Amino acid sequence: MKTIATEETMRAVVVERFGGPEVLVLRELRRPQPGPGQVLIRVAYCGVCRHDLLTRSGAFPSISLPITLGHQVSGRIAVPGEGVSNLSVGQRVMTMIYQSCGSCINCVEGNTALCMTQRSQFLGEDFDGGYAEYVLVDEKMVVPVEDGLPLEHAAVITCTYGTAYHALLTRGGASTRQTVLVTGASGGVGLHLLQLARHFGITVIAVTNSPNKQDLLRRFGASEVIVNRDGRFAAAAKKATGGRGVDLVMEIVGGASLGESVHAVRNGGAIVLIGNIEGQPTSIKPAHFILKEISLIGTKSCTRHEVGEVCRLITDDQLGVEVDGIFPLDQAAKVHRMMEDGSAHGRFVLQVNGDIA
Ligand SMILES: [Zn+2]
Ligand SMILES: [Zn+2]
Repeated sequence: MKTIATEETMRAVVVERFGGPEVLVLRELRRPQPGPGQVLIRVAYCGVCRHDLLTRSGAFPSISLPITLGHQVSGRIAVPGEGVSNLSVGQRVMTMIYQSCGSCINCVEGNTALCMTQRSQFLGEDFDGGYAEYVLVDEKMVVPVEDGLPLEHAAVITCTYGTAYHALLTRGGASTRQTVLVTGASGGVGLHLLQLARHFGITVIAVTNSPNKQDLLRRFGASEVIVNRDGRFAAAAKKATGGRGVDLVMEIVGGASLGESVHAVRNGGAIVLIGNIEGQPTSIKPAHFILKEISLIGTKSCTRHEVGEVCRLITDDQLGVEVDGIFPLDQAAKVHRMMEDGSAHGRFVLQVNGDIA
């Protein structure tokens, strides 16, 4: 039997069947090699996202297994493939989340998450991600990281600040005088969205179902916190806005709270749909959208330009990155458990090769 030499292998946390955190298993896999236009990244850190929990549990049954999770990667270029000229060995980098064609109308406009070809694929879901010592990506997914930006922070920027920036400013068009309600505010996207809103002078009403997260949310910039004990928050949001309703809702929870968000938003307001934590369908009444003239706006990931803007604000010390804990790669299952039992806020990061940061 042929044995694989150690230098050709890598450790990876793999999902071989859908299920609870226990299905995350550490495996020794063959290390991939880059083809033309691809790069192999030696992973320093990989962020853990709630989306990973959904993927692992089987919420998207069309995913083919086994798969290595992880769409928030930072590290250094290990091997640039043929034809890659603008990235060099050892360069500090992070990744975008979607692989894209680079030439369709959305890619040309920079919105690669909306690529219209078959090649639009989600890192750590459609192809192997960063819960591993190495990750293989298309060079177009790679974003260079400035020296002043720690790689443990770089790992989570795209999915947190990038998503928040695209949702709040680009899609929601939020402006200084507006009041924005944020559901699921104490999660990774929520806390970063709060900081962005504070930076841009936007008033935030935060909704959480954890009474013990009120201080945290105020510290991150919420002017008002609603503790949602029974799934209801619209009445409190109306009261907080003098009966008028909020201008904009950042709907991070999704289907489970969308009905309340419809009641919380003012006539002529908008709801930006960022997440759907439980992954379930929901029913809404079209009449509310007609009679209140509410806009329902989808938002997906972010553009390279937005990531660049956020990185600039972070390296200028105008925004902080919230990493709640850093754990070794082989503790991925423990991190998933902590996120599922609600003991976590902010964002967790797996340290894979932290020494190269
Ligand atoms: Zn994510
Ligand atoms: Zn495209």
